[in-house]
Amino acid sequence: MALTFTRSWADEDLDRWRDTCSRFVEQELEPGDEAARQRGNVGKDLWLKAGELGLLCTDIPETWGGGGGDFRHEAVIYEECSRRGLSGWGNSVHTIVAHYFLNHGTEEQRQRYLPRMARGELVGAIAMTEPGTGSDLQGIRTRAEKQGDHFVINGSKTFITNGFLAGVVLVVCKTDPTQGARGTSILIVETEHCEGFRVGRVLDKMGMKSQDTSELFFDNVTVPAANLLGGQVGQGFYQLMGDLPYERLIIGVTALACMEGAYEATLDYVRERKAFGKPIADLQNTRFKLAEVATQIQVGRAFIDRCVESLLAGKLDTATASMAKLWGSEAQGRVLDECLQLFGGYGFMNEYMIARMYADARVQRIYGGTSEIMKEVISRAL
Ligand SMILES: Cc1cc2nc3c(=O)[nH]c(=O)nc-3n(C[C@H](O)[C@H](O)[C@H](O)COP(=O)(O)OP(=O)(O)OC[C@H]3O[C@@H](n4cnc5c(N)ncnc54)[C@H](O)[C@@H]3O)c2cc1C
Repeated sequence: MALTFTRSWADEDLDRWRDTCSRFVEQELEPGDEAARQRGNVGKDLWLKAGELGLLCTDIPETWGGGGGDFRHEAVIYEECSRRGLSGWGNSVHTIVAHYFLNHGTEEQRQRYLPRMARGELVGAIAMTEPGTGSDLQGIRTRAEKQGDHFVINGSKTFITNGFLAGVVLVVCKTDPTQGARGTSILIVETEHCEGFRVGRVLDKMGMKSQDTSELFFDNVTVPAANLLGGQVGQGFYQLMGDLPYERLIIGVTALACMEGAYEATLDYVRERKAFGKPIADLQNTRFKLAEVATQIQVGRAFIDRCVESLLAGKLDTATASMAKLWGSEAQGRVLDECLQLFGGYGFMNEYMIARMYADARVQRIYGGTSEIMKEVISRAL
C-alpha cells in the first residue's frame, strides 16, 4: 500500500474545499507561473479572480466580508500552492494583514478594509523591515510624526512581500523615537494616488521569482489620524507580537506541504529514470534516502497537525509556533536537498519543479524571523 500523508484536522468538507482550491491553483495560478516569474508578480487579475471565488480572507468572519471559515481553510490553500512549488501569490501575507485589521483594528478600520481585501480589490502588505534593520525591529527608523489630525511618514522599507501590487500597506513606524517598543505604531497607507509613496525595485531574488518582493519609500506621506491601527499610539510592537503564532505556523504548514510535494515528485522521477539498466528507484541509496524523507514528513506532520489544532483552540503559544517555523523550515531545506540530488542534473534546471522548490525553500529559514531568532524565542521559554 502506498504511503499517504493524512491530516488530523481534515474532514469531508475540507476535502471538498481542497478540490476547489486545487482546481483554482491548477487552472488559474499554475499556467501563468512562467510569465509571472518573468514579470516578477502574479498580476492583479489573479487576486480579483481569487476574491470572486471566495479564496481570500477565508478565515475572516462574514460580517467583514470574509469566508467565515478558520485556519484550516487557509492552510489548505497554502498547501495546494506549496506542494506544486508555486510561491508567487502572497496570499498568506495578505491574510496576515487581514488579521491585523481583525485583531487590532477599530471597527471602522475593519469595515473600511476587510471587505475590499476579501474581494481582492486591495492586496495587503506589511512593512517592518528596513535596509538597516530586520531582526532587531526596535531599531527601525521610519518615522510617523503627528501633525494636527494627520501623521506624516518618512522612511524606507525593503524586502516587502506583495510590495508592487499592494493597495494597502501596514507600515511599522516610530511615533516616539525616544521610546523602544512603546514608541512603535502601525500606520495604514493606501497606495493608490498616495503622494510621496513610491515602490522602488521589485527585488531580484534567488527564488520566489514570481513574488513581487519590493522596496517601498515614504517621503512625507500624509495619512489621517484615523489610519493609526487600533486608534491608540504606541501599540505597534504589541500588535506585532500578538499575531506571531499564526504567522509562524503558516511557515511550518507551507514547509511541510512543500516537502510532501517534493517527495511525491521525486518518487515519480526515480521510478522513471534508469541507470545501469534499472530504475534508480531500485538502488538501495535511493530507497534509503526516500525512506528518510518520508519518515521526516510523517514525524513533522504529527507536530504541525498538533500546532494547527492548538491554534484552532486558541492555545498556540509563540515558543511552540516558533518551533514549527524553525523545525519546518530547516527540515524543508534538508529534504529539498536530498530530493534534488536524486534528480541528478535535471534537478539543477529551473524548468523542473524541484529546482524551483529548492531555491524557494532557502528563504523560509530567513523571513518571518530567522532560525537564530526562533532559537532565541524558544530558549527564553525554557
Ligand atoms: C523573500 C523575502 C520576503 C520578505 N517579506 C517581508 C515582508 O513582507 N515584510 C517585512 O517586513 N519583511 C520581510 N522580509 C524581511 C525578513 O523578515 C528579514 O529579512 C528577516 O527578519 C531578517 O532580517 P535581516 O534581513 O535584516 O537580517 P539581520 O537581522 O541583519 O540578520 C543577519 C544575520 O544575523 C543573525 N542575527 C540577528 N540577530 C541575532 C540574534 N539576536 N542572535 C543570533 N543571530 C542573530 C540573523 O539570524 C541572520 O543570520 C522578507 C525577506 C525576504 C528575503
